[in-house]
Amino acid sequence: MNKYTIAVLPGDGIGPEIVGEAVKVLMAVGKKHKICFETKEALVGGASIDKYGIPLTEETLKLANSSDAVLLGAVGGPKWEGLDYSIRPERALLALRKELGLFANLRPAKIYPVLADASTLKKEIIEGVDIMVIRELTGGLYFGTPKGVEKLPDGTERGVNTMIYTTPEIERIAKVAFDVARKRRKKVTSVDKANVLETTELWRRVVTKVHKDYQDVELNHMYVDNCAMQLVRNPKQFDIIVTENTFGDILSDEAAMLTGSIGMLPSASLGGKVGMYEPIHGSAPDIAGQGKANPIATVLSVAMMLRFSFNLTKEADDIEMAVEGVLNKGYRTADIHQPGKKLTGCKEMGEVVVNELG
Ligand code: NAD
Repeated sequence: MNKYTIAVLPGDGIGPEIVGEAVKVLMAVGKKHKICFETKEALVGGASIDKYGIPLTEETLKLANSSDAVLLGAVGGPKWEGLDYSIRPERALLALRKELGLFANLRPAKIYPVLADASTLKKEIIEGVDIMVIRELTGGLYFGTPKGVEKLPDGTERGVNTMIYTTPEIERIAKVAFDVARKRRKKVTSVDKANVLETTELWRRVVTKVHKDYQDVELNHMYVDNCAMQLVRNPKQFDIIVTENTFGDILSDEAAMLTGSIGMLPSASLGGKVGMYEPIHGSAPDIAGQGKANPIATVLSVAMMLRFSFNLTKEADDIEMAVEGVLNKGYRTADIHQPGKKLTGCKEMGEVVVNELG
């Protein structure tokens, strides 16, 4: 019997509620396909600050490093907002990404036909949208130095951030994009600002070079401002969007909103030995503890884990089909509820997905 160990880090706010349901689904799919999933839970973020004074302990990091994959809920909340940046809950995410070498963030944005009405865009524009945004996660403007704010002799201040990419950093993310494209519709759009930013001119050249080894995949280049516009004008033109850290942060949120609810969207962070899977949303303190949260993003993150970390394609398909099945049957958490549909709590949503798996 195949066996996988998963570090489960529920985190804060709705984290424990949604992760609890996702683990139920994981266990159900394991039982169905005779695969042993062992979970080991640890604190992260605000929950870890409350107990240990820091958002990520050595023990939690060790657990993550020694597991086959990490499933994370969400971190943060008003309780910890006054803390110094160096020990805020969100630092745990940055540290995990860095320590696990997770340089590629994959965020699918897929429209479910029964939820097409939930988008702020017209149905005919978004019906059939199935995009994967691949964001470079450990370089670029968010990490480049020099950075900071300094006082100038005349009493004003000067803020600096630096966008840096090296050839190997671009090559490895481009390879991820082309490899994932081969599992999808084989089309990659590389997004840059090569007309203005020299760093992204290098990005364009390197992506083009890597593409020589992937001639079965179609590649086009697009400036980031045009991409932001095209995502709302004609999103169906995209299969995979690959881009640098800051552009990816913004474009992946824009792509997410096409689908109507962030409670539906999973993500994967890859690159090192251990992949990390989490919903794209935060800890939703406004609804935490009320049993209202939508667990589907976390359930679909489990499906991504099976697909990308364990190569369990059939099992991942099973989970995705079960989610589609319960939506087709009219089950809706509050964030995606429409008149005439069955208003469903977090726990009940987990249960109906498990039942749908059969
Ligand atoms: P958020 O994503 O937590 O919430 C935004 C809105 O979406 C809220 O109204 C919330 O109720 C709703 N929402 C989010 N997830 C939902 C779900 N599964 N089901 C139903 N509704 C859902 O963003 P925010 O309010 O800006 O941030 C709250 C906290 O989360 C902050 O401390 C922030 O720093 C943190 N955060 C963490 C992560 C992460 O852990 N990866 C990501 C984003 C924000």
